[in-house]
Amino acid sequence: MPELPEVETIVRNLRRGNGASPLPGQRIERVTIRWPRHIAEPSVGSFRRRIRDRAIIDVRRRGKYLVFPLDRSTLLIHLRMSGDLQLTERGAPAGPYDRTVFHLKSGQQLRFSDARKLGKVFLLDDPEPLLSKLGPEPLDEEFTPQVLSSRLARHHRALKPLLLDQSFLAGLGNIYTDEALHLARLHPLRRSDSLNRDEVKALWQGIREALNQGLDHNGASIDWVYRGGDFQNYFRVYQRSGKPCLVCGKTIERIIVHQRGTHYCPSCQPEAFA
Ligand SMILES: [Zn+2]
Repeated sequence: MPELPEVETIVRNLRRGNGASPLPGQRIERVTIRWPRHIAEPSVGSFRRRIRDRAIIDVRRRGKYLVFPLDRSTLLIHLRMSGDLQLTERGAPAGPYDRTVFHLKSGQQLRFSDARKLGKVFLLDDPEPLLSKLGPEPLDEEFTPQVLSSRLARHHRALKPLLLDQSFLAGLGNIYTDEALHLARLHPLRRSDSLNRDEVKALWQGIREALNQGLDHNGASIDWVYRGGDFQNYFRVYQRSGKPCLVCGKTIERIIVHQRGTHYCPSCQPEAFA
């Protein structure tokens, strides 16, 4: 599943154009919808009508959402499990999973490919009610160790599921949560309100370092979607169970936490209160 660094990499590519013209400033001519359940809001008919002739002002990211402010209303796309967005020339061969295709006046196409069909598209007059449900952006300046500390103290939950909760913090998924906890030397089951000041600081640094490393590598390319990133070659713990910890040499273990595969080093990240 694309997480903050992967979504941000897509945003940067769309802004630059990457060989094609940049997306901001382009106008949408019409949309092809091959998988109607992609359209979360409004109805498919209304979406088709209202998206016509809209100008794309910018491409931004909030959490794992791609946000496209238009000259009227806002387009939002959530890639969920397997989604990818590419700006291509009209004649470029269609991919097998191109479900929703925005035809641009320039002749280019913005293609939302989605093997597992779980992605969602919204066209909203006001995106705030949806976006304001998200927690803070972990790379923003306003996200300080103090902010993290007070948010952690409000919960008595294991760190792993709490960090995955998008209303607690926006943008982290399974990869970057496991990487951040290893960097911070914290066990995934540690209770959020049990961290001392130094541990909170370490977690704050770990989260930012994991995300920034991902961004430096243009994200990770795992599953069946190749977005050009190579962070998968630099994982410390994620999908490395049975292999030696890069820090201490002990074997990385995998446990299931709230149905999610969770990778950690039992030596660097000792069990809570052990
Ligand atoms: Zn270790």
